[in-house]
Amino acid sequence: MADKSVINEVRDIQLAIELIELGARLQVLETETDLSRGRLIRLYKEVRGVSPPKGMLPFSTDWFITWLPNIHSSLFYNVYLSLRQREKCDRMEAIIKAYRLYFEQISMLEDGEAVLGLTRAWTLVRFFESDMMQLSTCNSCSGRFVNHAQSLDHDFVCGICQPPSRAGKTRRAAERARLKSEREQVTG
Ligand SMILES: [Zn+2]
Repeated sequence: MADKSVINEVRDIQLAIELIELGARLQVLETETDLSRGRLIRLYKEVRGVSPPKGMLPFSTDWFITWLPNIHSSLFYNVYLSLRQREKCDRMEAIIKAYRLYFEQISMLEDGEAVLGLTRAWTLVRFFESDMMQLSTCNSCSGRFVNHAQSLDHDFVCGICQPPSRAGKTRRAAERARLKSEREQVTG
């Protein structure tokens, strides 16, 4: 019995370290491990070199529905689901693996920025677990996207197929900035 609890403790510490390295907030660690708050704070300081940020997680389901976060959240959640269903990963293993895969994919894109942090990704899984979210299938590309639970989605079109007009503006502005910096590099 004593040996088993030592093994559990080691497992919890390994999990906590991995989560802290990926950017998890204290609340994630407190929920997912049996380690005391004091030990988690010490561990956090040791891994990151700073104290964990204070306060509760402010996330609501709405954030996951806004345009760019929705595309990132949907990418992450589809990977998470396939790890759970096809690879039979357990929950935390799937969250960590899916997050790493998501992060890798985004890092390979030009101007790629991981809009979805690990804590938010974990929150999203919890929202699905408490039936606050559903996946809606896009009528145009057949991709599955994160949506509020009980949304009427028979004519749902995703944010990639139908980006808001400001998304185009942002893209054009980014393109202009890129061309400008290239010109400056040539002339400079
Ligand atoms: Zn679509």
